[in-house]
Amino acid sequence: MTPIDVGIIGAGAAGIFCAANIGALVPGIRIVVFEATQSPLTKVKISGGGRCNVTHNCFDPGLLVKNYPRGYKELRGAFAKFQPQDTVAWFNERGVALKVEPDGRMFPVSDSSQTVIDCLMQECERHGVKVFKGQKILNLQKQDEWFSLNSKSGEQFKVKHLIIATGSTPEGHALAASLGHKITALAPSLFTFKISDPRLVGFSGISFAQAPLVLTIPGEKETNHQFSGPLLITHWGLSGPAVLKLSAFAAHDLFHSAYQATLKVNFANMSKDQVEEQIKAYATKHSKQQVANHSVIAAIPQRWWSHLCEHLGIVTELRFAELKATQRYALAEELTGGTYKVTGKGVFKEEFVTAGGIDLQEIDFRTMESKKAESLFFSGEVLNVDGITGGFNFQSAWTTAMLVARAIQTKFSSPE
Ligand SMILES: Cc1cc2nc3c(=O)[nH]c(=O)nc-3n(C[C@H](O)[C@H](O)[C@H](O)COP(=O)(O)OP(=O)(O)OC[C@H]3O[C@@H](n4cnc5c(N)ncnc54)[C@H](O)[C@@H]3O)c2cc1C
Repeated sequence: MTPIDVGIIGAGAAGIFCAANIGALVPGIRIVVFEATQSPLTKVKISGGGRCNVTHNCFDPGLLVKNYPRGYKELRGAFAKFQPQDTVAWFNERGVALKVEPDGRMFPVSDSSQTVIDCLMQECERHGVKVFKGQKILNLQKQDEWFSLNSKSGEQFKVKHLIIATGSTPEGHALAASLGHKITALAPSLFTFKISDPRLVGFSGISFAQAPLVLTIPGEKETNHQFSGPLLITHWGLSGPAVLKLSAFAAHDLFHSAYQATLKVNFANMSKDQVEEQIKAYATKHSKQQVANHSVIAAIPQRWWSHLCEHLGIVTELRFAELKATQRYALAEELTGGTYKVTGKGVFKEEFVTAGGIDLQEIDFRTMESKKAESLFFSGEVLNVDGITGGFNFQSAWTTAMLVARAIQTKFSSPE
């Protein structure tokens, strides 16, 4: 059994980025990545709808951390050392140019995740990194200065410096726990809301550019989360960046309430008084027009306005001159504070992550080294770090991986 200088468990974004950079920073050492499956970087492949949303166009660490419901405090310093700007430069220097979409997401110019995979795997090969596929690590022990790893295939490996980059798999968490690490509560993050409500049925596809939302979650202590952002009516309820952001920040609270909550939506993105004023002003000028046939609010499509009028008992024949104050109030109330019952968690196929993981208090975030065991490091989603959708999850993987690589470089450059 030849000893391995650096062993990395998991060939995902974190593990492979880590391996490639250690190879570049510490030439000549033996680096092995152990991957349970036959294919490294499977999530990168399917990420961003096959385009791979590599990072986000936000180069200010102070602003960047606001996109991480878990890990924001710890990532602040980490991003000062390796942030999206560095990611863009890293890929650019290796022939992968990234482009920015209007919402800030950054993709390879090729619009293909394969470009990112090829780049990462070529870097590993260039630096002599070995990727052992089909090598699921079942358990490990630390004896003296060495980690001893046992794989499902029955092989045993001796590793000097160990990096656990197993993503959100329970097996990876179990390996960390066996070395004394605490795993915080786990819950899914980045999902849509299931809402079965006649006001939404038949209107899937209608979107709102900016809708302030307030989510109230029942429980021993009722919690409130609020965000404003783009919103989309779907076949099963509501989706869009604002909902996904709420799902991330409220991931644990929603898990505890079994995804039962109340969502208040301001579709008009105005105050109730403003909506009432606009209806009044329109009524003065167009008193003979039928209310249901004329959406007065720019954000509300005509088809849905008619439907809401019907829902509120405003008959098609009713003219603006006949609209009672109570009806006007009810319309304004519906458009600025419509209340919907969330009854479950829907899917968001583009991206999903797990909230929870290795307790961050047990990690030195300058190096990503464990405070429990020397020469043990963590990177990526295995940690209690996760971001909202938009390239933030890969960015935390790249950043934590780079910090590990630099820490390993320091270990090899300072004599023991
Ligand atoms: C459908 C989808 C799309 C996404 N799109 C985006 C996106 O566009 N942008 C973005 O920023 N984020 C995206 N994400 C999130 C992002 O993919 C993850 O946050 C990221 O992949 C985490 O990287 P990681 O290396 O920590 O873990 P993973 O990518 O999960 O890699 C962990 C690896 O470890 C291996 N492994 C686990 N246990 C063992 C073991 N015991 N022994 C050996 N190997 C083991 C696994 O097989 C896996 O290959 C997406 C997620 C999904 C599910």
